[in-house]
Amino acid sequence: MVSAVETEARPRPTSARERAIWDIAATVVDPEVPVLTIEDLGVLRRVVLDGEQVTVEITPTYSGCPAIDAMRDDIVVALARHGYPDATVNVVLAPAWTTEWLSDDGRAKLEAFGIAPPVPRRTDGGVDLGLGIRCPHCGSLHTRAISAFGSTSCKALYVCQRCQEPFDYFKQH
Ligand SMILES: [Zn+2]
Repeated sequence: MVSAVETEARPRPTSARERAIWDIAATVVDPEVPVLTIEDLGVLRRVVLDGEQVTVEITPTYSGCPAIDAMRDDIVVALARHGYPDATVNVVLAPAWTTEWLSDDGRAKLEAFGIAPPVPRRTDGGVDLGLGIRCPHCGSLHTRAISAFGSTSCKALYVCQRCQEPFDYFKQH
């Protein structure tokens, strides 16, 4: 969904042709969580059309993210299939990705996939104790961390005290 208020965190293309290219690139999914598109993740940053040269900019969710190479290849393939055979995909590391770039759709899809979405960053300057991580299976807030690292380094492993199910928490960063 396109939000009415455009912020820097969620850049949008400016022309109709760039929009069309954006929409093709936006069909590429995260190989680790295939329900999430790179648009949901906020990984898709910019589409630039200069003459017939297409350039797409993406930012990995964390540095050294192994999924970024697969995403880059998938964007090139998707664009080639839709008539843009010479697209360039640049990996942009600054500004660094933050969980704030994850869309509301993306958060809902993560939870439906069984991964607790990152809790929003605290703005009151308080220390985030990791409280209030909701179990994606039963919705209970009675959860606790088992390990700082889950199935990948950007996730932590939690267990629900109510339904006893373990789950990944997509860490805020
Ligand atoms: Zn539970």
